[in-house]
Amino acid sequence: MRILISGASIAGPVLAYWLDRYGFDVTVVERTPAPRKTGGGHAVDLFRPAMQIVEQMGVADQIRAKATGTEALVLRRPTGKPVTLDLRKLFTAVSDNHVEIMRDDLSELLYNATCSDVDYIFADSITAIDDGEVTFERSRAQRFDVIVGADGLHSNVRALTFGPESEFTTWLGAYLAIFSVPNYRELDGVMEMIVDSGRMAGIYSAAHMDDARAGFFLRLPQPLDYHHRDIERQKQLLHNHFHDMKWEVPRLLAELDHTPSFYFDSIMQLRLDTWSRGRVTLVGDAAYCPGPAVGGSTSMAVVGSYILAGELAAHAGDHAAAFATYEREIGEYVRRSRGFAVTAAKSLIPRGRLEVWAMVNAIRLINVLPAPVSRAAAKLNTKGVRLHDSIAVRDYTGFDRMRE
Ligand SMILES: Cc1cc2nc3c(=O)[nH]c(=O)nc-3n(C[C@H](O)[C@H](O)[C@H](O)COP(=O)(O)OP(=O)(O)OC[C@H]3O[C@@H](n4cnc5c(N)ncnc54)[C@H](O)[C@@H]3O)c2cc1C
Repeated sequence: MRILISGASIAGPVLAYWLDRYGFDVTVVERTPAPRKTGGGHAVDLFRPAMQIVEQMGVADQIRAKATGTEALVLRRPTGKPVTLDLRKLFTAVSDNHVEIMRDDLSELLYNATCSDVDYIFADSITAIDDGEVTFERSRAQRFDVIVGADGLHSNVRALTFGPESEFTTWLGAYLAIFSVPNYRELDGVMEMIVDSGRMAGIYSAAHMDDARAGFFLRLPQPLDYHHRDIERQKQLLHNHFHDMKWEVPRLLAELDHTPSFYFDSIMQLRLDTWSRGRVTLVGDAAYCPGPAVGGSTSMAVVGSYILAGELAAHAGDHAAAFATYEREIGEYVRRSRGFAVTAAKSLIPRGRLEVWAMVNAIRLINVLPAPVSRAAAKLNTKGVRLHDSIAVRDYTGFDRMRE
């Protein structure tokens, strides 16, 4: 059975790995000219269920070796002393097995784990899907039994199959930008941020990175009228909204004008009732992004890919039956993540001075609580901070090489 996956970031290679292990014939098409390389992207999180899956893939130790190593957050306000949050304590409370890693480091490791068994086509994109007939921008047309969109929040496969993205997205009230800057503050294990009413800016690096990432978060009353690829306008917007912020913000804004890598997007949530139509289904951010940076979507992308591959194996390639159970298995996790992300998006960027004050005091509280107490309190909260760790995932490993 021939399966085509669009997207080679996180969901794509995880899905490809498991499908290949179950004996399917897998091709991955990726728009970028080459595999993602170490050091790029932004920090993402893997929680317990996702770590168990990558453990079974044999890449968990390599993933731990590339962890960002961020241990503390130093938070500044326009006035008053900075407060420091012990992130190790926070993550120990939130998860029994958590790793923070740069997105492209993770992608490179997952690609390396699959590239000798799976066919990768780079610098190409699907242009049409007609039942199983797929046409591409550059490659010749081919027939596949199943086509999976693992091509992210602005998924091409979703647009071709379900229609325009605007029909399925809900804006969560904020925008974010991430860009590369020199690690001129020589950060090692520390993330620094400044927060004010409706806006937040900061900088972090990872243990093995030569550069650092600047991050800007902006809350607005109305969505912007802009195109998500209009980089010049996005940079101008950041200058307009952050020009009067103190601390390192003027320096970070100066770097913005000649950064080699820049990302800007709205924090929005995808809400589709189903992710499958005919021979096509969706996985990861393409299907159920709860919101970038607010919903733990990387873990969900890993778990969703593992479940989709497992269901295709369990149903011996009967894609209609497999898609239905895949959607049932992941559905509750998706719904809970959506709820969590809406709350997280509200509290991430304070709306006024009172919320800045509340944020600082929450950090102080976490710092003074003994670790076992914060762990015990967090464990009661399976809909919130313990959401990802509390997900139970079916074990599909019995289907290994079932088709050989
Ligand atoms: C700024 C930012 C901060 C984030 N912070 C966090 C965080 O702290 N924690 C966390 O867990 N998650 C975070 N996320 C989310 C995380 O990056 C995603 O959930 C994760 O990368 C999802 O993986 P994916 O493979 O589904 O999609 P993506 O990583 O988006 O990958 C999609 C892939 O598809 C490719 N593609 C796109 N279009 C096409 C096409 N037409 N044809 C072929 N290929 C195509 C892309 O090039 C890309 O390689 C953040 C995201 C952003 C943007």
